[in-house]
Amino acid sequence: MDTDFFRAWITRVAKAIEADRARLTELDAAIGDGDHGTNLDRGFAAVLRVLDTTAPSTPSTVLSLTGTTLISKVGGASGPLYGTAFRRAGNALPDAPEIDLRDLAAALEAAVAAVRKLGAARDGDKTMVDALAPAAAALSRAAEEGAALPDAVDAAVAAAEAGAQATVGMQASKGRASYLGPRSVGHLDPGAASTVLILTALRDTARAAAESE
Ligand code: ADP
Ligand code: MG
Repeated sequence: MDTDFFRAWITRVAKAIEADRARLTELDAAIGDGDHGTNLDRGFAAVLRVLDTTAPSTPSTVLSLTGTTLISKVGGASGPLYGTAFRRAGNALPDAPEIDLRDLAAALEAAVAAVRKLGAARDGDKTMVDALAPAAAALSRAAEEGAALPDAVDAAVAAAEAGAQATVGMQASKGRASYLGPRSVGHLDPGAASTVLILTALRDTARAAAESE
């Protein structure tokens, strides 16, 4: 995976968030303050502008710039959380023009660790961690088993989807949704839903790259 791959991924993320902005905002309106879709859409639109003007030359710098921009442009909990996740993932990647599946898996693990540390969320707290952590574990497992990139990312997306779906039955203990207590049960966590979109964009980028080989 080279710099173009990572730019293509982030571009797909921005499109997917824009297309699903209303759904993310509705999910957040049910158990939060109804800004998750607009927060992320504003953030990723800014990221695309920054990537266009600065033309980063490695996968690592694409992710670091993405993170820095999200931190500066997105208010709310998700800006600093996703921003730090992308930055830490970027820092975890080798400073090289191409990276492999093992590097990507290690970067996703670093992103999960960053979100856990900053948000103090544990598994089952009904947050993005419940989608991100199983996805990182699935990607690491696939990398260890020597899977091809599209299959590995498929497994990560499936794990994220299952993890996000499981947040429906959880009671929130972190973020705004926790103010609702037991009334937060029965709703999909918006951050877990956006994590699925981000990883689905990665899967689609990997598929497109495999087809063009
Ligand atoms: P805000 O809650 O400040 O309005 P957003 O609506 O953009 O921010 O994002 C809400 C999402 O952020 C939640 O659905 C959840 O997944 C995630 N989140 C909130 N607090 C935490 C936390 N402490 N740790 C991990 N994720 C969190
Ligand atoms: Mg919100």
